[in-house]
Amino acid sequence: MMAAGIDGHTQLIGLIGWPVEHSLSPLMHNAAFEDLGMNWRYLPLPVPPGQVETAVRGLAALGFRGANVTLPHKRAVISVLDSIDPHAAALGAVNTLVVGRRAGKGAVVGGYNTDDQGFVGALRRGGFSPGNGDKAIVVGAGGAARAIVHGLLQSGSGEVLVLNRSLERARSLVSDLGQTPGEAARLHALPLSAETLVASVQAAELLVNATPTGMWPDVEDSIWPAGTPIPAHLTVFDLVYNPLETRLLQQARESGARALDGLEMLVRQGALSFELWTGRPAPIDVMRAACVRALGG
Ligand code: NAP
Repeated sequence: MMAAGIDGHTQLIGLIGWPVEHSLSPLMHNAAFEDLGMNWRYLPLPVPPGQVETAVRGLAALGFRGANVTLPHKRAVISVLDSIDPHAAALGAVNTLVVGRRAGKGAVVGGYNTDDQGFVGALRRGGFSPGNGDKAIVVGAGGAARAIVHGLLQSGSGEVLVLNRSLERARSLVSDLGQTPGEAARLHALPLSAETLVASVQAAELLVNATPTGMWPDVEDSIWPAGTPIPAHLTVFDLVYNPLETRLLQQARESGARALDGLEMLVRQGALSFELWTGRPAPIDVMRAACVRALGG
């Protein structure tokens, strides 16, 4: 079906990651291009660890207009860019590449990050407005957690506590993102355990899972201990979107807490990337519907 209409004018966008087979992004963006009648296509490009520089140079040489970057390349790609948006540089991860052409310079590749705005937009749409000095617990310290923490700090959260399996990685996130004395005072790191998690959410308003725990096929896994109720005043946001209703979100609903899945963030970060590549408003409802259909929602 995708091959129909491809010709010498077709503009290409890639997805650089490893693995990329299960990503919804190709489906979501191709639905958007089709809806707007654009002769553009979005292609999954499996790039093994260690090959990101070759991949980015190849992308530019092959005339691609841009790409998304996903696991495990979001940080490694920074060193091979011609330019980086200050916002992406501040949070230390890139999820969107835009290939430009400059007279005399050939192709130039710029890096952006749309995950944090996608997250904050999804949180607001779900009924939680970060700010007013609220306290958030973020579980995970990878590329996605960096975007979440940055988004929360920029939105005025009063305190963000990062819990991670590897304390060293959480500390590195905190030292990179706590760039001003004000930010550093609002950011803390602790090792992840059931005890620290349960104790720390008592005084928090928001809990975010930024790890793959609970993702298909390990759908019975949860960062939250079984048999312990989640405080009902919490908003629980799970970045995982496959399945839409993770074990963590089931635990939140059973306890009377607000439960928000990762689909809206996926759609919103994708819409922002789409606008960077094309300069056109993204058909966000079409993108969301394509993902919901694929997830059987
Ligand atoms: P990443 O850079 O590989 O980081 C993964 C994080 O999860 C690390 O902090 C890692 O801890 C932790 N982790 C992995 N397995 C764990 C386990 N079994 N128990 C406890 N912690 C574990 O990945 P990422 O890019 O940040 O992505 C994280 C998740 O967010 C993925 O599921 C991804 O699909 C999802 N995501 C969703 C969206 C969206 O739009 N909804 C956007 C981006 C990412 P260590 O540091 O100890 O290894």
